Amino acid sequence: MSKVRWTADAFWNLQDQIPEDRKPLTYILYADKAKLSSFGRAKGYPVVARIANLPTSIRNGEGFGGGRVVGWLPIVKEDKRQRNKPPWAAFKNVVWHKSFERILEDIAAHSKSGCWIRCWDDIERKFYPRVLVLSADYEGQCVMALTRGVSSKYPCPICIIPREELSNVANRPVYPLRTRDGVIATLHKARNESRTEGEETLMAEGLRDIDNAFNAVESADVHRALPFSNLALLLFHPPSPSPLLPPSPLLSSSPSPAQNYPAQTPPPTTP
Ligand SMILES: [Zn+2]
Repeated sequence: MSKVRWTADAFWNLQDQIPEDRKPLTYILYADKAKLSSFGRAKGYPVVARIANLPTSIRNGEGFGGGRVVGWLPIVKEDKRQRNKPPWAAFKNVVWHKSFERILEDIAAHSKSGCWIRCWDDIERKFYPRVLVLSADYEGQCVMALTRGVSSKYPCPICIIPREELSNVANRPVYPLRTRDGVIATLHKARNESRTEGEETLMAEGLRDIDNAFNAVESADVHRALPFSNLALLLFHPPSPSPLLPPSPLLSSSPSPAQNYPAQTPPPTTP
């Protein structure tokens, strides 16, 4: 029930952002590290897209309308001298977002001006691509949200809950949600401060000083697109419904991203 409501709410919110006679074309994107492949000496993993407009049985199926590999993300080769140093973690996040920016190029361009598509009823409709859901494990979600992960003071990619409050499941208050605009404002503030002050500003929200690839897509908000579909995030968020938090995940009953999309041969060159 809540899944239906969340999907419907999300669609109405998207419909509000575009001209009345136009349609949102909504994507679910999975960054699937479980499907690591080698490309000569380089390694990468696929990004799989599904269209949320389609019925679940079609978009989660293997046939026409099912998930498709739309790009590959590179794995940065570990450098023993750099490992565990903060600049190295930042570098890997920059590589991820610069790569994802390429995958999102077309969606980003069409998200602003829309694109005409001839539908099965032979009527042309103008669609505005939107990113509705992003799916990854906790580590992947932190990369998508550009938060500093489980050891930081604010480990949740969705809200600004202090780490020490995570164990207080019973009576903790609802912490402010992260938002695209909020993060952009914090980055702007930090970049206009001295190095030390700027670092403190970022640490106060557990953020990295990196521009998010998803910001190129009109109204895409990474923090709203991450479903609470893994244990870590379920622990971070109490099960009781909060007026600020979206209900349970759209994708909880979906197949794992590693299933149900056609096997594809990786491209011959390094992504
Ligand atoms: Zn949270």
